[in-house]
Amino acid sequence: MKAVVVGGGLAGCAAALDLVDAGHEVTLFEARPTLGGAVQTLPEREGDPSPPPDNGQHIALGCFTEYLRFLDRIGAGGSYERRPLALSVIGAGGVAAEIKPRMRALLGYRHLSLRDRLGIPLVTARLRNAEPRPGETFGVLLRRHGASDSAVELFWDVFIRPALNLRTDEADAAVGLFTVRTALLGRRSDSDVVLPSRPLGAMHGEAAARTLAGAGAVVRVGERVDDLDDVDADTIVVALPPRESARLLGEDAPQLEDSPIVSVHLLFDRELLDRPLAALLGTDAHWVFDRGALTRNPPARGQYLTVVSSGVPELMELRGRELVERVASAVTSRLGPADVVWSRVSREPYATVALRPGTASLRPGARTGRPNVVRAGAWTDTGWPATMESAVRSGRTAARLLSDVITQVAA
Ligand SMILES: Cc1cc2nc3c(=O)[nH]c(=O)nc-3n(C[C@H](O)[C@H](O)[C@H](O)COP(=O)(O)OP(=O)(O)OC[C@H]3O[C@@H](n4cnc5c(N)ncnc54)[C@H](O)[C@@H]3O)c2cc1C
Repeated sequence: MKAVVVGGGLAGCAAALDLVDAGHEVTLFEARPTLGGAVQTLPEREGDPSPPPDNGQHIALGCFTEYLRFLDRIGAGGSYERRPLALSVIGAGGVAAEIKPRMRALLGYRHLSLRDRLGIPLVTARLRNAEPRPGETFGVLLRRHGASDSAVELFWDVFIRPALNLRTDEADAAVGLFTVRTALLGRRSDSDVVLPSRPLGAMHGEAAARTLAGAGAVVRVGERVDDLDDVDADTIVVALPPRESARLLGEDAPQLEDSPIVSVHLLFDRELLDRPLAALLGTDAHWVFDRGALTRNPPARGQYLTVVSSGVPELMELRGRELVERVASAVTSRLGPADVVWSRVSREPYATVALRPGTASLRPGARTGRPNVVRAGAWTDTGWPATMESAVRSGRTAARLLSDVITQVAA
């Protein structure tokens, strides 16, 4: 059977791989010149350090089993470092504390009062049986189970914000609860932090294109599909962002808002960060990553950092220079004085959908009004937040559904 996949992000690539592995004749159309979608390396510019920056640091967790399996399938299983959860959180005056899934570490979390520290294991344990209420944010749910305002702001927000690309006080309670249960309350290895050690473009889009071509699929990059009726196929996977997906499927656009991610890449004239990553508490520079060390390519002099700000729409309005100054000063205020010798900004206004309370019903499943056309995308109803794991899962579900349709037609 002829299967066409529209959209070459992780969802489309995962669907195309499963379909070609199942023996179908697959063509993948991607509007941009490369595969990978939201997971990209920026086009190289003169003066960039090596490797050129990615569009934003991407982190996976040990519980992202389908994403990690996908990386293995495309031959990129050796392109990341996996380490047990240990998150450094640096506050005013450079005071550091660590978040680790261990009682002793939690009790030493200096950014909270002793009373609040003692409350963290208690609240976490209560989350096993917590029931989200309709319309509730995760922040409200946490407070209902005993968390203080300080614990929400200075502890829970540190990993909920990057995981959901929203503040704890904005995110849907059920999605927050899913994240904590899946990452922190399962096996210890589920909370492992998985950090790319190669540029995102090489380890995702390029590797997927090679694997798909090797398996016999046709990959057509730089080709936008404007109308599904123009597509010559028995079955189609529409693996696109929400509004484009609705347009091609002839549906009303889902009322899902977007949440942005801003990344500022900085080369400082000296070393500032003595660990691979850290959260900078109380600043717009939510997380800072040592890109030179993580890609095993440190600059000859100074330090190459990537600073990520999740879900702060105000930052989208700032001009490049202002943004660099604001983020660089947040870094130096926490890590010590240094001069910026190179910088580059990456803004992703549609990085993820904003899973606020009440949005669960706005995420459609894989089935569409047409039996031979299915939908995929991180934003669809996969049960996961809009992550790389959700994208891969959605693609695999779409491929399974189409294979079932094909089997029924053939029978
Ligand atoms: C800066 C940034 C940081 C992130 N950080 C993380 C993180 O740390 N951890 C994590 O798990 N997730 C992270 N995410 C989210 C994650 O990258 C996405 O959820 C996921 O990659 C989306 O995959 P997708 O295939 O559903 O959609 P997309 O990647 O958006 O793919 C859709 C593709 O369709 C193409 N397309 C659009 N219209 C057409 C058309 N008409 N015809 C053909 N092609 C078309 C687009 O060009 C695109 O390539 C981040 C996202 C960004 C932007």
